[in-house]
Amino acid sequence: MLAVDLGGTNLRVAAVSPQGKLLHRESAPTRDALGPESVIERMAALCDHVAEAAGLGDDAPIGVASPGPLDPKTGVVIFTPNLAGWQDVPLASSLSRLTGRAVRLANDANCAGLGEARFGAAIGYDQVVYLGLGTGVGGGVIIDGRMYEGGHGLGVELGHICVAMDGPRCSCGAIGCLEAFCAGWAIAHEATLVADAEDGEAIRTAANGRNPDARAVTDAANAGDPAALAILERAGRALGAGIGLLINIFNPEAIVIGGGLAASGEALLGPARAAVPSYSFRGLRNQAIILRATLGDDNGLIGAAAIALDLQNG
Ligand code: ADP
Ligand code: ZN
Ligand code: MG
Repeated sequence: MLAVDLGGTNLRVAAVSPQGKLLHRESAPTRDALGPESVIERMAALCDHVAEAAGLGDDAPIGVASPGPLDPKTGVVIFTPNLAGWQDVPLASSLSRLTGRAVRLANDANCAGLGEARFGAAIGYDQVVYLGLGTGVGGGVIIDGRMYEGGHGLGVELGHICVAMDGPRCSCGAIGCLEAFCAGWAIAHEATLVADAEDGEAIRTAANGRNPDARAVTDAANAGDPAALAILERAGRALGAGIGLLINIFNPEAIVIGGGLAASGEALLGPARAAVPSYSFRGLRNQAIILRATLGDDNGLIGAAAIALDLQNG
């Protein structure tokens, strides 16, 4: 299988075994400013190169994890805020034409969830909810071992479930989204305010002259700073409310927490776990275990390989 992650500043391509092992990987700068056609041409060349290096055949299919929204049925990226000029881009058909391979496209956070469910933290579980706490918050829902893609193929937007009816505005414009409490941007926003306040010294020190981010807050929290702990405690309670909501809807066997903020560890996850009982139905919550992601930044890539595998197996 070939897998592509179109997530960030780098285009990442890997050959992955049917058991989810990375066989060979390469990456190159995305250079989205050159336009979608240029990106897809370089993506195609990288796919063929990786396939050859890993000894995969000409017919090895490609799974692509892409920021959304996108249409997995037509393989069209509708738009992505992160990539300049990506509007209604027929990514799957272009990549398929250039490589002669079958191509499937899915949302990157949904892919990350599938990767963790099939080959990562939640191996052996068929009903899984994934939350990726990064710059924003994304997620995926796995039902009967398969990615839930929704009626229009847009999947799920777990970062934008409401956990506070009168909460803060989110980057998406809606009110009280989970993301507005526990995305990297939200924590950085809080930290910036705290850094200017009297109790912000530890965060200021941890930020070391830069704008304080979630990592600086975590460093200060790990050193016992009450202001930093309070930021992560609030984010964690919101996370617990979000997890409770998801438990009530999906009755999952496992909930996997990934993304850069998972490295905040117990300062974030402790309050989240403690809050879950207050925000979920008694009969369901004891059935769901909360796990840390194990595939790190590769979970989207490995999930992309999983959709390619499903494509091959029909
Ligand atoms: P994305 O893929 O959405 O850009 P990542 O999953 O890479 O994001 O996560 C980036 C976020 O994780 C940033 O907000 C960053 O501050 C935060 N982060 C990085 N390292 C740590 C850490 N050790 N502890 C807590 N947060 C961290
Ligand atoms: Zn939102
Ligand atoms: Mg990432």
